[in-house]
Amino acid sequence: MKQITEAARQVPVLAEVDVLVVGSGPGGLSAALSSARAGVDTMLIERFGCLGGNITAVGVEGIAWYRKEGTTDVEGIGIEFEQRAKSLGATSPEPQSKSEAINADMFKYVADVLVQEAGVKVLLHTFVIDAVVEEDQIKGVIVHNKMGRQAILAKRVIDGSGDADLAFFTGAPTRKTPKEDMLPVTVMFSCSGVNKKRFLEYVKENPSSYKDWGKNWDIQKGGKEDDLFSPYLEKPFDKARETGVIPPGMKSIGGTWSAITDSGEATYLNMIHLTEFDGTDVWDLTRAEMEGRYQALQAIKALNHFAPGFEDAKLRTYGMTLGVRDTRKIIGRYDLTENDVRNQARFEDSIGIFPEFIDGYNVLVLPTTGRYFHIPYGCLVPQKIGNLLVAGRSIAGDKISHASVRNMMCCTVSGQGAGVAAAVSVKDDVNVGDVNIGNVQKELLKQGVRIK
Ligand SMILES: Cc1cc2nc3c(=O)[nH]c(=O)nc-3n(C[C@H](O)[C@H](O)[C@H](O)COP(=O)(O)OP(=O)(O)OC[C@H]3O[C@@H](n4cnc5c(N)ncnc54)[C@H](O)[C@@H]3O)c2cc1C
Repeated sequence: MKQITEAARQVPVLAEVDVLVVGSGPGGLSAALSSARAGVDTMLIERFGCLGGNITAVGVEGIAWYRKEGTTDVEGIGIEFEQRAKSLGATSPEPQSKSEAINADMFKYVADVLVQEAGVKVLLHTFVIDAVVEEDQIKGVIVHNKMGRQAILAKRVIDGSGDADLAFFTGAPTRKTPKEDMLPVTVMFSCSGVNKKRFLEYVKENPSSYKDWGKNWDIQKGGKEDDLFSPYLEKPFDKARETGVIPPGMKSIGGTWSAITDSGEATYLNMIHLTEFDGTDVWDLTRAEMEGRYQALQAIKALNHFAPGFEDAKLRTYGMTLGVRDTRKIIGRYDLTENDVRNQARFEDSIGIFPEFIDGYNVLVLPTTGRYFHIPYGCLVPQKIGNLLVAGRSIAGDKISHASVRNMMCCTVSGQGAGVAAAVSVKDDVNVGDVNIGNVQKELLKQGVRIK
C-alpha cells in the first residue's frame, strides 16, 4: 500500500490518571467501575456517545440467556448490571431463560448512573487511535475527537475495545481467526407494529427447540439441549426463500427474537448472519453495514408474509452499529483452551468463574448441569508490554474458548478482574504482570465476585 509520512506534532495532555480504560462494553465498563470502586483514579474513554458497547450500540439484550435450571452462575458486577437495570425499569423477562433481557436504550442511562455513582471520569465521542509506548511500558494513549488530537497519560491501561485495538497499537502480539472461519457479523434490527398475542400464539403452535437452532449452520450439540425451548425462527424464512419472496440463495437470514413489548415492538431481532467479514477491516465493515441493512429489510418482508403477528410490522431501528463477534485476541501469558472450557478448568490465579456455556464455531453447550470453569488472570495479561491488561472478548484463548468468553456475562468477569488487578497494581506499585494475585482475589471477594 502507498504510504506517506505524517509530520511529528506536539499534542496537549488532556488528562493524567491512575487507570485508563478504553471501550465501555461489558468488559470495559466492568473494568472501570471495579477499578474506581477499589479506590483509584479511573477514566473511561468511549468512541460513541453512550456507554455499554454491544448492549447499547448494537442492541444485544441477552446478558444471561444461557441461565437455566441448574446453572452455576457468576457472582459479581454482571449480575449487578442485570439487577440494577431491572430496578431502573430497563429490562423485561427474557423468553428462553431465567434471566432479564436488557432494554438497550435504557441501559445507556443505567450505565451513566453506575459510572457517576462510582466516580469514574468519562469521556465520550473520543476515539483512541494510538498508544504511547516507551520501551516495554504503555504510558498512555493518543485520542482523536472534535477537539483534535490529544494524549491521555495513565499508570495502567485496560484495553476493553473488543478488538484488542490498544494491544495492537502497542505492538503486543495478537491473533485473528482466518476471515473465512470468523464468527459472522450482524446488523441487528427491531420492528414496530407486531401483534404480540398473535405471534406468541403462532410460536406456541410451532415451538422451536435447540434441535432446530442453527439447522442451516450445522451446529454440534450434546443432545441435552435438544428439547429446550428456543426463540429461534427459521420456517418463515424457508418459506420466503422457497416462494421467491426473498432471494432463494439468501441463507444468511434466520435467527432469534427476544423481548416483545405490549405495544408491539420486537426489540432484538438477531436474524442476519454475514460470514467472511473482518471487523478490523474498514472496507469489510462498510460492506457489511450496507449488506446487513438490505438483508434486514428482506427479513422483514419474509416476516410480513409468513410470520403470523408480523403482517404489519415495520422497521423500527437498526442497531447503531454493526455487531461484530470475533476479531483480534491477545496472545496472553496464558491462552485459554477448548479443553479448559469443556472440562471445568481450575486455576490458582482465578479471577472469576463462568458456567459451561459455549456458543460459536458450530458448537452449542448450554449450562444445564452446574458445571463451570475458572477464568485465569493470565489470559488478561498480554505479552511484551507491561502495565496493559485486556478485558472482554479479546482476552487470550483459542476458538472454542472464545465461543465461551465472548459472552457478555463472561466479559464482565474478565472486566472486573482487569479493573481490580490494575487498581491493586497501582496501590502496590508493581507491574500488572507482577501483581500479587492474592491481593487481587481479596479485593474481588470484597466486591462480591465468586472466584472458586
Ligand atoms: C449480533 C450479536 C449478538 C450477540 N448476542 C449475544 C447474546 O445474546 N448474549 C451474549 O452474552 N453475548 C452476545 N454477543 C456477544 C457480546 O455482545 C460481545 O462478545 C460482548 O459485548 C463483547 O464485550 P466487550 O466489552 O469485549 O466489547 P464490546 O461490547 O464490543 O465493547 C467495546 C467498546 O469499545 C469501544 N471501542 C472500540 N474501539 C475503540 C477505540 N479505538 N476507541 C474508543 N472506543 C473504542 C466500542 O465503541 C464499544 O463501546 C453478541 C454479539 C453480537 C455481535
